[in-house]
Amino acid sequence: MSEQNVKTFEYKAEMKQLLHLIVHSLYKNPEVFLRELVSNASDALNKVRFLRLTNSDIVDSDAELKIKIEIDKEKGTFSIEDTGIGMTEDELVNQIGTIASSGTLEFIQKMNEAKQSIDGSMIGQFGVGFYSVFMVTDEVTVETRHAEAGSTALKWTSKGENSFSIEESDRTARGTKISFTLNDEHKQFAEDYNVKSILTKYSNFVDFPLFIGDDKVNTVQALWHKKKDDLKKEEVDEFYKFISNDFQEPLDYLHLAIEGNINFKALLFIPQVAPPNLFMDTREKTLQLYSSKVFIQDDAPELLPDYLRFVKGVVDTEDLPLNVSREVTQSSPVMTKIKNVITGKLLTMFEDWAKDDKDKFMKFYNNFGAMFKTGLNSDFTNKERLTELLRFETTKTEKGDMISLSAYVSNMKSGQEEIYYLSGDSRESIERNPNLEYFRKNDIEVLLLSDPVDVFTIPYLFEYDKKQFKSIDKADIKLDDDKDETDKLGEDTKKSLIEVFKETLGDKVEDVVESKRLVESPVTLVVGKEGMDPQLEKMMRMMDQKHAGSKRILEINTGHKLIRNLSRIHIADSSDPVLRKTILQLFEGAMLMEGHLHSPNEFVARMNELLEKATD
Ligand code: ADP
Repeated sequence: MSEQNVKTFEYKAEMKQLLHLIVHSLYKNPEVFLRELVSNASDALNKVRFLRLTNSDIVDSDAELKIKIEIDKEKGTFSIEDTGIGMTEDELVNQIGTIASSGTLEFIQKMNEAKQSIDGSMIGQFGVGFYSVFMVTDEVTVETRHAEAGSTALKWTSKGENSFSIEESDRTARGTKISFTLNDEHKQFAEDYNVKSILTKYSNFVDFPLFIGDDKVNTVQALWHKKKDDLKKEEVDEFYKFISNDFQEPLDYLHLAIEGNINFKALLFIPQVAPPNLFMDTREKTLQLYSSKVFIQDDAPELLPDYLRFVKGVVDTEDLPLNVSREVTQSSPVMTKIKNVITGKLLTMFEDWAKDDKDKFMKFYNNFGAMFKTGLNSDFTNKERLTELLRFETTKTEKGDMISLSAYVSNMKSGQEEIYYLSGDSRESIERNPNLEYFRKNDIEVLLLSDPVDVFTIPYLFEYDKKQFKSIDKADIKLDDDKDETDKLGEDTKKSLIEVFKETLGDKVEDVVESKRLVESPVTLVVGKEGMDPQLEKMMRMMDQKHAGSKRILEINTGHKLIRNLSRIHIADSSDPVLRKTILQLFEGAMLMEGHLHSPNEFVARMNELLEKATD
């Protein structure tokens, strides 16, 4: 080809400035050029695939749709070739080489003035992704032949910054080949394994085979683009294992193809078991984000509410600009819309399990319930749906069996107006709590909260079905007076005995009162109006050794033999040391049950003294 057939074009002033900034700014990750080139190739292949559907009269109509990368370590050269739609001369001039969106330059200039380093991945969103190659090379050649029958192949070359030139090329194959020599600082992109490892991350689900030399690097297809019915369980399971590094199959998955207001496809997985450090590990990956099948981020936590962050999977949307940066996705309303749809769909799936597949639901609940419940504190839109999904053991369920709040309410006895609960470390320890005695005797069901998260969530539900939640550890609980007064002490006797208790315990307690809730035990500790749930207090103490804790109210069972014995001693000889020692012992025994006896030595010494008397 003769020299005069080479056409040279000056970049527009705006483009020149932009290129200057791209080449001379410091980029955090030059490797984005790979993603940009692969995603452009994939776009071109998508276009020709579409064209082929309606038009068989195109160049190389039967050619395999693929992307091929060739690197030469010795020479430091790199090329990427696709069998896509190619470019016409007009496109070479007007698509490549022009800033698509206005305002781009000002934006980048501002970033530069503010000395903010420009993240390479931002280039893509301005529609000048192709130019990211100038981060790794000084001169680029593009050879391309458009798919249209009879098209002329063209060669485009540029050193960036000032101008580009176009001439005819002797290429015959359809598609585009981009080649360049890597500059000295970026020779690592001529290393096979380097390029491979970057590309497996970025392009594993590009819908076309991608070769480096003769090796195909992307193995997994974009499963989420298949129709729901065409998805095979085995391939979905494999895919899950691939993205999650889990060795087990998922508990279940959700395939979404949403169209309308917001458009995206998603494959979402619920693992079978929670990772051991679910609450601690923030490095745990959530959802991968794709834009039109091209990988964008391997963790997009903004696509899920925090309480569902155990969900794994992929979201692929056309509603984000291709290769959008993390900064943009984080604040994009598109992400929020997707998150809302995903949340709703996941809740529907859980609701379906709860209704039709209780085993699956309980497996899920036992593994992820603790995290799931934190949604009650954060997702007010879905609070009611979350509340319906709660499950609890109760005083009436077998160990391990759980019921919903609606089941609890329908079991409520006539006249019961509140939902009762009691918290503790384990079902066993809660069941030993004397505060349950009244409820057991009167056959009233009580929720047993043994999950540490419960004390942070359940009290803040306040009510369900217009019934308030009430801890039966609290002093202000409404209890019917026991009609059976025969064994109880007279009013004056009671009053005077309570005085001795108060005087003996002093400021160790908030108050001493007669109990309505005890049946078998002589005393119990309850929480005053201002006091904190004992379980919550225990946790505070774990975090802060010096946490003082609120004082308890001591309730005494005036129908209990031991209390009546004390009353007898009090009347006969109020100065008898056994009286005060026994009162202290009863109080400390109750503290011991709660798990914070301050001086076990004194407690045991006093016990031995009393035993000695009893055996005298
Ligand atoms: P964007 O892809 O965001 O539009 P680019 O600068 O990466 O911005 O590409 C500009 C345009 O150049 C593309 O829109 C496309 O029309 C064309 N192009 C780039 N690479 C190829 C390719 N491999 N095959 C065909 N056209 C391409």
